[in-house]
Amino acid sequence: MEHDKLQRFMFEHGEVRGELVRLTDSWRHVLERRDYPPVIRSLLGEMMASAVMLAAMLKFDGTLVMQMQGSGPIRLLVVECRSDLAIRATAKHDDCADLANLPDLLGKGHFVITLDPADPDQTAYQGIVPLHGNTVAEALEHYLMQSEQLPTRIWLAVDEQSSAGMMLQRMPGASSDELWQEALAPAATVKADELLKLDFMTLLHRLFNEHDTRVFESMPVRFSCTCSREKVAGMLRMLGPDEVEAALAEQAEIDVACEFCGQHYLFDAVDAAQLFAAPESLAEDSKKLH
Ligand SMILES: [Zn+2]
Repeated sequence: MEHDKLQRFMFEHGEVRGELVRLTDSWRHVLERRDYPPVIRSLLGEMMASAVMLAAMLKFDGTLVMQMQGSGPIRLLVVECRSDLAIRATAKHDDCADLANLPDLLGKGHFVITLDPADPDQTAYQGIVPLHGNTVAEALEHYLMQSEQLPTRIWLAVDEQSSAGMMLQRMPGASSDELWQEALAPAATVKADELLKLDFMTLLHRLFNEHDTRVFESMPVRFSCTCSREKVAGMLRMLGPDEVEAALAEQAEIDVACEFCGQHYLFDAVDAAQLFAAPESLAEDSKKLH
């Protein structure tokens, strides 16, 4: 099986750009860690494929966070993709077994993109638009039209093994609509099976052989979680000593599980005492001790 990867391409005069993505291992990584209902599995798969394509298109140095926030059985779907295409995802939801349709699942909600720069001196950017459409592809197309004024079309497919997608975007400043329409026509014939299974070069040739297509080097995509014991410790410090002591009065250890990767972080009374002992020098001291 091929590794998870993203493929960028561009049509002859650079007026239309496109991307293909297929995720297998990274998506399975997300699914293995939590027992999601099928509808959430599909939505997360589609959002992961979308987030990777968007991150690669924006070429932004930092983390792209794509969220669908809902008021229905699904409260939140979130995918984070870093510039190096390391990805993680999670969902918060109630019972949604009988539902399939996006408006029923999410109710009145929002589609949110946050760009969190790697450089701490830069400020984060956040774009929010009301959720629109019946699919993840439609919601993202709507977002891009509202926030970037860039006509974009997205095709997504998910099966038991993989999640895949194709994106076409009319470049800013494109002179005529002709090439855009010529690109859309064959793209609209793409089948889910082709996105999920066909070799990218074969697929590009099948769809766009009429065009002089320039293909860039493909980029690998992988699952990676950025959680750490230090970050959980920071969160417990924010809660304060009273809350932490109250929790420890009820159980021997505080067990914090990462909602993205399922990693458990345990803090007992000794750890808790250290949390609040010397917040500034703790990291240095504990390094010296080992
Ligand atoms: Zn984690």
